[in-house]
Amino acid sequence: MGLHSGMSMSVDVVVIGAGAAGLTAAQGLVRAGYTVKVLDKGRGPGGRLSTRRGRVTRLDHGCQFLGDDEASAMDDLNDWRESGVAQAWSPRLGPGSGAPKLHGSQWLVGVPTMSQVAKSMAADLDVTCGCRVGALQQANGQWQILDDSGVTCAEANMVVIAVPAPQAIDLLEPTGFDGLSTLTAATYDPTWALLLEGDELPPLPFDATAPADEPLGWLAVQASKPGRSDAAAWVGLATTQWSRTHLEDEHEAVAHELVQSCERIVGHEISVPATVHRWRYSLVSTAAGMPAVMDARQGLVACGDWCLGPTVSHAVASGRAAAAAVIEQCSSTA
Ligand SMILES: Cc1cc2nc3c(=O)[nH]c(=O)nc-3n(C[C@H](O)[C@H](O)[C@H](O)COP(=O)(O)OP(=O)(O)OC[C@H]3O[C@@H](n4cnc5c(N)ncnc54)[C@H](O)[C@@H]3O)c2cc1C
Repeated sequence: MGLHSGMSMSVDVVVIGAGAAGLTAAQGLVRAGYTVKVLDKGRGPGGRLSTRRGRVTRLDHGCQFLGDDEASAMDDLNDWRESGVAQAWSPRLGPGSGAPKLHGSQWLVGVPTMSQVAKSMAADLDVTCGCRVGALQQANGQWQILDDSGVTCAEANMVVIAVPAPQAIDLLEPTGFDGLSTLTAATYDPTWALLLEGDELPPLPFDATAPADEPLGWLAVQASKPGRSDAAAWVGLATTQWSRTHLEDEHEAVAHELVQSCERIVGHEISVPATVHRWRYSLVSTAAGMPAVMDARQGLVACGDWCLGPTVSHAVASGRAAAAAVIEQCSSTA
C-alpha cells in the first residue's frame, strides 16, 4: 500500500475506490491474473468500513457490524470470520431496541477495528491512498486516470469505478458512460455520527441500543466489541430522518443536540468532549437493482453498495459482479 506521488503506471484494470466493493473487485481480478491498481482519496482503505483514531482509543464511526443479509457475499464473510479478521458480536441490547432492520441474524465485527477488514483485503493489493480521482480520459486506446489537480496517476485498459453513485456520476458523465440513468436512480440517506470517549462516561447496563424516539437511533459501547481496549468510548448514530433535517447544520450545533439525546438515553449527564462526523452518502435508500453497471464499449464498470442495497455485503456482492463483468468482457474480446 502506498501514498499518492503522482507517478503513472499502466495496468490492466484501475479500480477507483478502496471500500468493500472496490477491494472485492480488485481481489477477484488479481486472482484471475490481471494487473490491478486501486486508487482512493482517503488516508487508508475502507471507505465507510472505517474507524477513527480518537484521543484514547479507536472508534468505529461508519459501518457498525456485518450482517448476513446478501447471500452472494457469504463466502467473503465466512473467510473473514475463519481468518479471525472478523468475530461474532452479541451485544446486550438496551430495553425496547430490536435488531436494526438492515441486518440478518449473524453480527460480525472487524477485529480489532472495523477498518481492519479493509486493511486485510488491501494487504495483497496495489493500493494507493491520498489520490482523489478528478477525471478519466482516453489516450492511445487506454484510460488515463487524472487526480484532482490534473496529474495522470495511472493508465489502464479498463476502469472499475467503486464509489458512491453521486460521486461516480461526476466521473462518468463526461465520458458519455452508457448506463448513467441506472446510477441516477440510486439514492442515499445521510447519517450524523457522534463520538464520545473518556473515563467520565458511566458504565451502562447495555452494549448497544436502538431507541425509537430520539435523534440518536443507535448507541454502541466500543469496548463491548471483541478485541477492543477497555477504554470508555461510545459511538452514536443519528436517525435518517434527523440527519436529513440537520444535514447542513454546524458541527457544534449537531454535537450539542446529539449529546442531549445521548443524555436522555443513558440517564446521565455527559461531560466528555463530543466529536461529530457527517456521512453525506451513508445508507442506500434506493438501490439500482442490478449488481454492477457496465459500458462494455468503453471498458468502464461502476459498482458499489448502491447497486444492490444498504450494507457491506451488498457492496461485496457488487464488487464481485464487477470483477466478473470485466473478466467476461475480456474473454469475449480475446
Ligand atoms: C454510519 C454508517 C453506518 C453503517 N452501518 C452499517 C452496518 O451496520 N452494517 C453494514 O453492513 N453496513 C453499514 N453501513 C453501510 C456500509 O458501510 C456500506 O454499504 C459499505 O461500506 C459501502 O462500501 P462501498 O465500497 O460501496 O463504498 P465506500 O465504502 O463508500 O467506498 C468508496 C471509496 O471510494 C473512495 N472515493 C470516492 N470518490 C473518490 C474519488 N474521486 N477518487 C478516489 N477515491 C474516491 C472513498 O474514499 C471510499 O473509500 C453503514 C454506513 C455508515 C456511513
